[in-house]
Amino acid sequence: MAEHHPGGYRRHRRQPIGKRDPDERTGDFEEVWAEKWDEQQLAEQGERCMDCGTPTCMGGCPIGNIIPDWNDLVHRSDWKEALERLHATNNFPEFTGYNCPAPCENSCVLAYNDDPVTIKSIERAIADKGWEEGWIEPEPPEQRTDYEVAVVGSGPAGLAAAQQLNRAGHHVTVFERNDEVGGLMRYGIPDQKFAKHRVQRRVDQLREEGIAFETNAEVGGNVPVERLEDDFDASVIAVGSQKPIDLDLPGRDLEGTHFAMDYLTQQNRRNVGKDVSGPDIDAEGKNVVVLGGGDTGADCVATAHRQGAEQVVQIELLPKPPVERPPGNPWPEQPQTYKKTYAQEEGAVEEYNVDTNAFVDTDGDGRVDTLEADRVIWEEGGEGPPEKKVSESNLEIPADLVILAIGFEAPESTPFDPLGAEINDDGTFETDEAMMTNVDGVFAAGDAKMGPSLIVWAIGSGRDVARHVDQYLTGESDLPPSLETSNEPLVSM
Ligand SMILES: Cc1cc2nc3c(=O)[nH]c(=O)nc-3n(C[C@H](O)[C@H](O)[C@H](O)COP(=O)(O)OP(=O)(O)OC[C@H]3O[C@@H](n4cnc5c(N)ncnc54)[C@H](O)[C@@H]3O)c2cc1C
Repeated sequence: MAEHHPGGYRRHRRQPIGKRDPDERTGDFEEVWAEKWDEQQLAEQGERCMDCGTPTCMGGCPIGNIIPDWNDLVHRSDWKEALERLHATNNFPEFTGYNCPAPCENSCVLAYNDDPVTIKSIERAIADKGWEEGWIEPEPPEQRTDYEVAVVGSGPAGLAAAQQLNRAGHHVTVFERNDEVGGLMRYGIPDQKFAKHRVQRRVDQLREEGIAFETNAEVGGNVPVERLEDDFDASVIAVGSQKPIDLDLPGRDLEGTHFAMDYLTQQNRRNVGKDVSGPDIDAEGKNVVVLGGGDTGADCVATAHRQGAEQVVQIELLPKPPVERPPGNPWPEQPQTYKKTYAQEEGAVEEYNVDTNAFVDTDGDGRVDTLEADRVIWEEGGEGPPEKKVSESNLEIPADLVILAIGFEAPESTPFDPLGAEINDDGTFETDEAMMTNVDGVFAAGDAKMGPSLIVWAIGSGRDVARHVDQYLTGESDLPPSLETSNEPLVSM
């Protein structure tokens, strides 16, 4: 385990890897993150880790990353060993090092009354260094089994499952309905948050390890779903949870109101010179309203800025969270507090407690130009949840482009209906403790099993399902489970 460096947190203030200046970065779709980081700076940040007896950071990490170890290894400049330790629990540490909201940092013991260790920056730096140095290479299995496994969906869950199963020696084919592999990390998450070459080099690694990818291949569409049972010994449904939540309001069908994913995907495609499907959605010169105060909404705000929007307003129905932890939300719980997003740093108007009533076309040209809404307050009343009361009615907000980013309902499960897989009330795939659906040999993982979540959970779920599939096929497995998503007690490997 890690060497103890008492007092590093007293010697060094928290200093994560920075971002580019907002004025500069809104002029392009390049990553917002500073490209370069300083090894000495990261070594000092690693030294801030207190190597606590109970590393609560690890408890906060859904995949149980062995954080104190790699903090210490970075402090001692043993980057290669740090990378190995990181890969032991996480197939794709740059996916999380760039994108994770870092629940580990909220659970860091230092966060009790000080600034937490910059765990996310350290993770990113280890992965960056691994690629730069050429330490991340294909690791094909030494021996192959005769088993064929299908993975449906190529997001972080599908890719993690595929890599683990392939490393266990099985023949893995990944089916992806899009023209490119990567799930929401390819089409969804904007390039300014995560550059696509980082996804592609992992795909290349997986391909070189022997995984077959079939793109433009929709299982239940142009690939008959029966193939899962006819051609494969086991299959993993990792199709995500991308059915968007809609708003049934007057004017919803006006031109100029769109779902977030349609909007974001178009820009991902434009950035690499690809055609976009459907009407062109572009914020240039427009008054943009983004409905939804979450991270998807933030990505839409940031995209609208880069497209040259006149004004961007981000609307949230709920109140603005407090800056300090509210009573009943103590450390190490995840804080229910306000966090300024990278998009808001770039200057959008944030409106809380606003309840949309209608999308309106005042000049009769068939396009939305105004959003009608009420300002509300939330009254705590007795036992039940807070009640919404109108405090100011008939707000009118200029809106030439409205983006709906109010969340996702469930996986698109209908293509799998012919299999007879059971679906839970919330629309996710029902599975047993071994992550298998009621259809023998058909498993589910990632957002398709959990509902909309995070990349880190998807990776953990992909690792877990791989272990279960391996066990199903061979009766045993040397693949490690992840810490939190596992349905079994953790066994040390
Ligand atoms: C805009 C946006 C921003 C986000 N930002 C972050 C972030 O910063 N950090 C973070 O941790 N999480 C973020 N998330 C959440 C994160 O992206 C997801 O939790 C994660 O990608 C889920 O992984 P998955 O593998 O389960 O599914 P997905 O990534 O959704 O991948 C599923 C794949 O399955 C494919 N598919 C679906 N049906 C079929 C079929 N029938 N046949 C073949 N292929 C099919 C889809 O095309 C897709 O490629 C964000 C989500 C969105 C929408």
